Order: sequence, then C-alpha cells, then structure tokens
Amino acid sequence: MDVKRLVKFMSPFPSQGRGDNIGKGKSVEVAVFGTKSYDRHFLDSAAEGADIQWHFIEPRLTQTTAPLASPFEAICCFVNDEISSDVLDKLAKGKTKLIAMRCAGYNNVDLPRAHELGIQVARVPAYSPYAVAEHAVGLILTLNRKYHKAYNRVREGDFSLNGLVGFDLHGKTVGVIGTGKIGQIFARIMHGFGCELLAYDVQQAEDCLKLGVNYKALDEILAQSDIISLHCPLLPVTKHLIDDEAIGKLKAGAMVINTSRGGLIDTVAAIGGLKSGQIGSLGIDVYEEEAELFFEDKSETVIQDDVFARLVTFPNVLVTGHQGFFTQNALEAIAQVTVQNLKEFATGKTLTNEVAVS
Ligand code: NAD
Repeated sequence: MDVKRLVKFMSPFPSQGRGDNIGKGKSVEVAVFGTKSYDRHFLDSAAEGADIQWHFIEPRLTQTTAPLASPFEAICCFVNDEISSDVLDKLAKGKTKLIAMRCAGYNNVDLPRAHELGIQVARVPAYSPYAVAEHAVGLILTLNRKYHKAYNRVREGDFSLNGLVGFDLHGKTVGVIGTGKIGQIFARIMHGFGCELLAYDVQQAEDCLKLGVNYKALDEILAQSDIISLHCPLLPVTKHLIDDEAIGKLKAGAMVINTSRGGLIDTVAAIGGLKSGQIGSLGIDVYEEEAELFFEDKSETVIQDDVFARLVTFPNVLVTGHQGFFTQNALEAIAQVTVQNLKEFATGKTLTNEVAVS
C-alpha cells in the first residue's frame, strides 16, 4: 500500500515538540500501530492527565507502513506487527527510540538489531494471566462438550444429543508445557476439576510443585496426557514443538490446546494428526500465519491460506482469533502499563519493563 494513502488512517492530533523533549519530562508523541477502537478507548482512558499524544494508525507495522513512524520518538506495537531487522532499519532512519509493546510476547521483535540501532523495547510483562488461562479452559470445555454445536442446534429447535458426547475432565491427565504465569494459573484451574497434572518446563514452579504437579520429560508428557496445553514462549528451540514426531508420541486421540504462540505447532503436521485420529481435537487461539488473518474482518474476502482453510473444516477443531487476552481487566492493565512505560521513557528514567537482549 502506498504510504501517502496510509496517512489518511492517522488521527489528526496537532504535532508538538519532538525528539528534543525526551528526558525533560515533556509531552511524548506516540504512533500506535494496528489501532482498534478498543485500543483507542483503553489507551485514552489510561493516559488521562498524562502528557501523551497518541497518533492512532489503523494498519499494522510492516515494511510498507514503517515510514509512518518517522516523526515519532515512540511507537506502540502489538503481537502481529512486523518488527524485523529491515523494519527496524527503517525506524532508525526516523526519530523512533522506543517500541512500547502493548503485549507480553516479543517474538516478533528482532531484539539484537533493535539494540544495535539504539532503539529500546518495553513490554507489558503481565496483565491478566487469568484471561489467557481461563480462555484455554474455555477451549477445552467447548471442544469436549461441544457448546458451539449445542448453541446452534437449540436455536434451530434441534434438541437431539447425537454427536455431543464428551468426557469427564475429572481424573484425566493434563500436560502443561510451560509453567510460567499463565501455565501456573491454568494448572490451578485444572487441579480444581480433579485432573492429574504433568508439566514440562526448563524451570520448575514452586506453586505447581505445591499443587502436586509432576514435572516430567516432554516425551513422557506427550505419551501420558489426555490433554496437552501449551504455555511456553515461542523461541527458536520451541518452534514447531508439536511437529510430526511429537504428534507420533501423543496418546492416541489426545486433545491439544495452544493459547501461546502459533509457531509452537507445525500446522501441516497437526492436520495430518487430525486426519489419522492421533490428535483427537485441537483448540487454538493462535496460528503460525495469523498475521495475515487475525484481528480483521475477512468475512467478505476469499481466504488464500489453504492450510488454515483446511484446518477449520474439521469438526473437532476450534479456532479463536487471538482473543485469550481480551478481557476488560487485561485491556485496562495493558493500557496502564504501556502508559507507565511511556512516562518513564519521556522522563528519561530507567525502563522498568525494558526487554533485555539475552
Ligand atoms: P511466562 O514467561 O510467565 O512463562 C513462560 C514459561 O515457559 C516459563 O516458565 C519458562 O521457563 C517456560 N519456558 C521457557 N522456555 C521453555 C521451553 N523451551 N520449554 C518449556 N517451557 C519453557 O509467560 P506467560 O505470561 O505465562 O505467557 C506464556 C505464553 O502465552 C507466552 O508465549 C505469550 O506469548 C502467550 N500469551 C498469549 C496470549 C493470548 O492472547 N493468547 C496473551 C498473553 C500471552
């Protein structure tokens, strides 16, 4: 898309002082990429009384839209913005000195390159881990008891139960991959259902150990769990954690849930697992190629992604469009911490939530 055409998406706030204000506690102007009405609402409320000028931009950050950032010291980004080295190089040609992520994950940021270019990256490390953990449980319950089908059936006067049979969660074995903030809450909820809990993480969580969670090797978890739920970050080592080989090790008919990042699952392998029955059901809130699909109304367009199109044909697959975080509580917390990050930047303070290069 032509950059000149994109400028029409920007809000008409008057421009005030720019780079020379930073560190002096003056107004900070922020370009908010991928703005939705709810972002605007929560960011506006959180910034009340603060010297922050938002410039809301509808398109997400990509190579094409990167030049829109050039007049702003700070930009605000989300999970599907493209913050690759090429985009960062473009940002560095303008005034951008801070990328304030309005999310926890930063797998879409080329951190080493940002560091080399002197662009700081801040994030919202925790907002509502309950939102995501509860959504994962929602996916499990819906897939198991088929609420989505029952809802439509009853509205059409069909009160038959054929095809709606589920299983008791009580007594089932649940494997939690990644027992950080979200994984721990998820484990606590599933413990409440009376499930046996297994976990795999590079470090064990005290809370989980107290709960009686049994840490095991990944292969054992794959083989023993009735339900596997992914809560680890997307890193080079976790990319396609669930691939052909891992699917082959699953207990036949296991349910797989992913509310973490799409790249944890090799989607083509998952389709194979669903066709063979090795995966009994799949619930995903994230998809590895979601950047081209999620957060937009595509109901009037032909989906070009054949893998995604195949995935949604399965009766035992439930896809939500990255809405795990989407609660009032989480949106308020995200906006408040983002404003806090921007205030620290504007006053030249050390950024509490800066993402360090490892
Ligand atoms: P966290 O940092 O608190 O926990 C992540 C856990 O994963 C840690 O315990 C860490 O030790 C573990 N881990 C790291 N490397 C691992 C590996 N190789 N194998 C297994 N475990 C490993 O993060 P969190 O806040 O619990 O978030 C978990 C994930 O949820 C993140 O990846 C985030 O991107 C995703 N998330 C999704 C949504 C959504 O809307 N769907 C919202 C927020 C976060």
